Amino acid sequence: MTDATHPFDALMEITARPPVVFVRGAGSYLWDDSRKRYLDFVQGWAVNALGHSPPAVAEALAAQANRLLTPSPAFYNEPSLKLAKALVANSCFDQVFFANSGAEANEGAIKLARKFGSLYKNGAYEIISFVGGFHGRTLATMSASGKKAFEPLFEPKVTGFPKAQLNDLDSVKRLISNKTVAVMLEPIQGEAGVWPATDQFLRELRALTKERGLLLIVDEIQTGMGRTGKLFHYEHAGIEPDIMTLGKGIGGGVPLAALLATDYASCFEHGDQGGTFNGNPLMCAAGLAVLEYVAKPEFLKAVTDAGLFLESELQKLSARHGLGEVRGRGLLLALDLKLPIGASIVAEAFADGVLINSPQPDALRFMPALNVTHEEISLMIDCLDAILVKAGAARRVA
Ligand SMILES: *Cc1c(COP(=O)(O)O)cnc(C)c1O
Repeated sequence: MTDATHPFDALMEITARPPVVFVRGAGSYLWDDSRKRYLDFVQGWAVNALGHSPPAVAEALAAQANRLLTPSPAFYNEPSLKLAKALVANSCFDQVFFANSGAEANEGAIKLARKFGSLYKNGAYEIISFVGGFHGRTLATMSASGKKAFEPLFEPKVTGFPKAQLNDLDSVKRLISNKTVAVMLEPIQGEAGVWPATDQFLRELRALTKERGLLLIVDEIQTGMGRTGKLFHYEHAGIEPDIMTLGKGIGGGVPLAALLATDYASCFEHGDQGGTFNGNPLMCAAGLAVLEYVAKPEFLKAVTDAGLFLESELQKLSARHGLGEVRGRGLLLALDLKLPIGASIVAEAFADGVLINSPQPDALRFMPALNVTHEEISLMIDCLDAILVKAGAARRVA
């Protein structure tokens, strides 16, 4: 045991964090331990669908905490049955397996596809995924990801994830063989910098996978639960995938994720899948509270409206400062900066009390609470505008 001299020393250093401690959150705002207030357009990394500590989720958690925490994953509990039923009723899927993180849900999707291959496709196991894709940080999900920085890490990786190019159907066709069982993608590549698959590509991919007897897996961990203005992104393209994963927003701030499959794809047998905390009533109670809010048509309409407002304000900002395009859908948007100034803008906004994210050096990403107001969007834009004015003046002097 070492005597930790600094309050941060006892935590493994796995990323660069600003040296403040956050102590409270409400809606679109966070406070640190010096009582400084921040307008939050990161929201736990697109996690807090209803903002920080929403009363609906806090009350559902408190009520469930006082009733039943964990009977055991070998027994049924009410919240998981209700949430599974509600997810099935609101989607094209028939069955749900709950997980505790997005990566774990994706591991489940990969295992389910491989099981399908072993049962019905002569042991086919390859899952075509995409350059730029991100599916999590377990060994298999890092292997499925198409992230350059992951390539040299933790060798040997899990094999069987050939990579195609997003929005290039021929690149998918070229990789299909008798070993292929599925194609897996994010409808919008979030971590790569908000790069959307076109609706046309999603439709073509669905047609191709159907024709070749392959499963289509959509990773909606970032795009699902209303983030893009529909409950699930696949609805925009009018397709029905075979398997979907959810995470982030589904718990409204607590660790909950889900693997959903159609009857056709749902083929686990006893012993194939499980986990101690999977489907525990506490997290499922939170998920139920979130879904009841988010699935309402008027809520999704408000997400669409807020997304269009943010998009048009970002476009105006871009025109004013000679920046690049605005990408994405609903409340998952990125602004192309055309220059590698993302990190410095994020740092200045942080100092000014606004939290944004730069997923790539030349892009900013916006993932506010789904119930963010137009006023909060305008405040964030004003902050960015002032930073860009200063940066422009500095460039002209230099
Ligand atoms: C965040 C994310 C994951 C991983 O989820 P964790 O909960 O961090 O394991 C997987 N896929 C996508 C698209 C994500 O955005």
